[in-house]
Amino acid sequence: MRQASGRLATRATRPLVRPAVAPMAVRAAQVGGQRTLFGLFGGSKKKAPPVRFDTVPERKEPAKPVLSQDDLFHPLSKSPFEPLRQKGERLRTYAVCPETLEKYHERKPVRYECPDCGFPTHASEEMWKEGKKEHEEYCPRLREVNEDEHDIRSGRELKEFENMPGVQPYEQALSMASWDTFFYTRDFVSINSPRAIRHVSKLLTYPISVLSVLHQNGPFHHSNGRVTPEGQRSMAALHSVLHPPPGTSTELMDIRPMNPFRVFLLGARSESTLPADIWLQLVHLFPRTPFNVYFIGPEAGVPLVTGRKREHLKMSEDGTQYGVPSCTVNVNPQLKLISLKANYENVHHMFGPFDPYQDVFFAFSPGLGFPDQSANAVDPATGEPQVQAQTSWKTALQQILETKCGLFFTAFSPTDLARDVSAIYGTQPPASAAQGPSEYPSTVNLPTKPIPPIEGVTNEFDLILTPGQNPFGSRKWEVADWDPRVAVKTNWGIWGIRGKRYDVAEPKVEDD
Ligand SMILES: [Zn+2]
Repeated sequence: MRQASGRLATRATRPLVRPAVAPMAVRAAQVGGQRTLFGLFGGSKKKAPPVRFDTVPERKEPAKPVLSQDDLFHPLSKSPFEPLRQKGERLRTYAVCPETLEKYHERKPVRYECPDCGFPTHASEEMWKEGKKEHEEYCPRLREVNEDEHDIRSGRELKEFENMPGVQPYEQALSMASWDTFFYTRDFVSINSPRAIRHVSKLLTYPISVLSVLHQNGPFHHSNGRVTPEGQRSMAALHSVLHPPPGTSTELMDIRPMNPFRVFLLGARSESTLPADIWLQLVHLFPRTPFNVYFIGPEAGVPLVTGRKREHLKMSEDGTQYGVPSCTVNVNPQLKLISLKANYENVHHMFGPFDPYQDVFFAFSPGLGFPDQSANAVDPATGEPQVQAQTSWKTALQQILETKCGLFFTAFSPTDLARDVSAIYGTQPPASAAQGPSEYPSTVNLPTKPIPPIEGVTNEFDLILTPGQNPFGSRKWEVADWDPRVAVKTNWGIWGIRGKRYDVAEPKVEDD
């Protein structure tokens, strides 16, 4: 998908979704540790290789479709595609029949595939019949996933990934109210169905979530309650650098070289392996600004350039430039992508000084309020499991808050969002759903009491973007391996903070 040709070359028989390794790791990476939310089971202890978006870079002769558009539904066990058969297998291994559990208090694996959605959902046909009413709540969603996953692998020409638009002319208005208006005003000509939006949003959610925060036409304002008064200061600083003053024409634009605008993506994982051109969709909206996008995390991968080049691109392991394994891709004169395989706190010192006008931080689904699975530590004050904001994220949060630059987070569901927010505010975490399936496997020991204040974090930040839904989250459902009733969406929610400013005020002198 070179921008020049405007095409995302797709090798038709390969999936856009992740391969079998850590299959449903909707979230993942931390600065230090790792949360493989949907991959808590089934993985070996061995460290998995970075998860890649298997996005098919190479343009080949159009292959003959394996499945026609009227043949997209298959029971997972009979799917022509190995990754989908494996998905079914994982469910059969880890998921428990809800009907047998509820009625007979027995834990039986799901063995019976619902004929309507093709997912294994119950222990037997009998249980499926008895639980049909409850299952109807989830069945249409699973059916959609089934057909989407077969469609993306069907071998059809994936036109929605072709002809992505280039630089937006200044005079052309951009609306970022939703994916639909964004695609329309950006002139994504080949995206013309809900399914196409689901496929594309799964990849574009990363750059466009960043764009939605940075762009002055983004969906977050003071007037809709999403940007706080403190946030207005941060946003104004960013906009002043990224947007030319009103009335500036292309000819009058200041073309003096400027320092690159830096976007730091922390705990980067699969988003670092997206095709480099996907990130051009961020910079196309700011044609006068050079961008450096840093993917930083122990599981950071290498951005895809083109199919052929990918074979030769590797992390430079000698660490000469950054002291850690790294890889730099000059996508075009405006955009540079840099991957650093390291914990953020270990490379922070190399990037100073920081400037809130030109530097911004993002962490996609960091899991701040999620128990640290590696440390397995218990908080002495509460006797509860320690969460990642207290362990793997702590130093990085302290460092970034000190820079006074914006730090934005996403989350994959309302509960995930609430859990992260409560962790750094030190407020009561959300209760697990009283009824209905839990978003986490029963083996995860979630904290039930407020997290004690985290030094240098709690009370040291201002909210700049209020927690809420992200209009540019993925529209595609990701189904959990341990319960087909559980599904989330990548980057469902978004919020942001910034290190507290202490305005120096003259002490008021009282007359005695
Ligand atoms: Zn069903």
